[in-house]
Amino acid sequence: MRAIQNFINGASASVSSGRAGVVFNPNTGAQQAEVAFAAAKDIDKAVQSALAAFPGWAATNPQRRARVMFNFKALIEQNMDELAHLLSSEHGKVIADSKGDIQRGLEVIEFACGIPHAQKGEYTEGAGPGIDVYSMRQPLGVCAGITPFNFPAMIPLWMCGVAIACGNTFVLKPSEKDPSVPVRLAELFIEAGGPPGVLNVVHGDKEAVDAIIAHPDIKAISFVGSSDIAQYIYAGGTANGKRVQAMGGAKNHGIVMPDADFDQATKDIIGAAYGSAGERCMALPVMVAVGKKAADEMRERLLVEIEKLKVGISTDPEAQYGPVISAVHKAKVEDYIRIGKDEGAELVRDGRGFKLQGYENGYFIGPTLFDNVKPGMKTYVEEIFGPVLQIMRAETLEEAIALPSQHQYGNGVAIFTRNGRAAREFAAKVNVGMVGINVPIPVPVAYHTFGGWKRSAFGDTNQHGMEGVKFYTKVKTVTARWPEGAQEDSSFVIPTMQ
Ligand code: NAD
Repeated sequence: MRAIQNFINGASASVSSGRAGVVFNPNTGAQQAEVAFAAAKDIDKAVQSALAAFPGWAATNPQRRARVMFNFKALIEQNMDELAHLLSSEHGKVIADSKGDIQRGLEVIEFACGIPHAQKGEYTEGAGPGIDVYSMRQPLGVCAGITPFNFPAMIPLWMCGVAIACGNTFVLKPSEKDPSVPVRLAELFIEAGGPPGVLNVVHGDKEAVDAIIAHPDIKAISFVGSSDIAQYIYAGGTANGKRVQAMGGAKNHGIVMPDADFDQATKDIIGAAYGSAGERCMALPVMVAVGKKAADEMRERLLVEIEKLKVGISTDPEAQYGPVISAVHKAKVEDYIRIGKDEGAELVRDGRGFKLQGYENGYFIGPTLFDNVKPGMKTYVEEIFGPVLQIMRAETLEEAIALPSQHQYGNGVAIFTRNGRAAREFAAKVNVGMVGINVPIPVPVAYHTFGGWKRSAFGDTNQHGMEGVKFYTKVKTVTARWPEGAQEDSSFVIPTMQ
């Protein structure tokens, strides 16, 4: 059985805990590897390695740090096929989607290649007589990232790409469900010329996470995962004096206006609802149709497309989506389908009991469609995170805006319309962090910034872009005086620039 180890100081490292987790192949349901779980002692070993590497890396000029990022980018591209197959074998998403996962992370590395420009400070010449003021953005020290199972390449790269480019060193704790790609990325970072200790990977569960929260030498934690854990990490990390950004769950709505291009909206919603088996934080699991005509027409069109969907193993080039991550998660999603029916939503298409020939033990769920879903329902309030699309019906744009605005989550939202005025009003008023206008999955490009609102994010600073640079640096401002002529007397009032 393959054993997945921690990666510390540029090399594989065994753990002291004696604990391990099981890594399954979701296509077959069979165990394919064992992942060693770090205890507090192992986390400390990784932090000590990052701490030792920090002064040298922080003092490396930004252009040299960027050169390592350029090499890292090239190596990820060269290894794209291998990485995508490894990712799919543990996660279950189809190969093309795994490549997309890696590519979106790679785009953050491309952003990080521009760090000499992004990390530049500000300068004011002559702020007073003989006085110049300048500010610099300095790295924090050792930073940690804790990531979810659903984007095992993109999300680690969001975090470590920006943190490391800024001169920090990093300890990554990826999901224990699909831990191999993050280790492979750390190996490629070394190959790219990254010094040992700058990027370390530790595996584990709550024990490892709690050790990260408690460790006095970790200055910042970036977390992405479910909301309750995000809140737990935000509360624990900030109580220990750390800077924390913690992204949580989601329930993204797609509003379809009566004037929308229904053909395009159908294609977009099908892809965004069922792609990656609905296991994306920017998936579109709720469609809100405005007006009965839009709702009825969209329902018919969605059903036609659902019938054409091919669910298959992750290496099947014709499959649109693969299995969900685990047997436990499959049971949870199927339970939500039962609850949805029990609480009175109309189950139009039931994906439970789906079996793929030859892969009967795989964690597959067929595409599921509900209509007449209502705001108070448990299956509407909570995140299902599976291939389940819920149709809601609104009479007006205002009613449609109110649904995502009042929902506990506020990650992403989309509107499908030909009316610029309605789109503009929607974007301005909706109480959600990321908005798509005729774009079903509005994940911002790497040089902009990613982050939701309400229970979708705890903390003030988003992922990547300039917000990422802000998160991973602290500002120091210098006021310098080189006066000409006579000395001044002591002053006992606050200095002002009169
Ligand atoms: P999860 O919260 O179960 O796990 C995330 C991380 O937290 C993992 O590394 C895990 O080991 C750790 N963890 C789990 N339980 C813990 C506990 N009790 N104490 C301490 N640490 C713990 O999330 P997941 O199932 O891996 O990922 C899916 C979730 O992530 C969904 O809710 C999804 O919406 C969310 N997500 C959000 C975003 C975003 O940017 N907002 C992006 C991707 C995924």
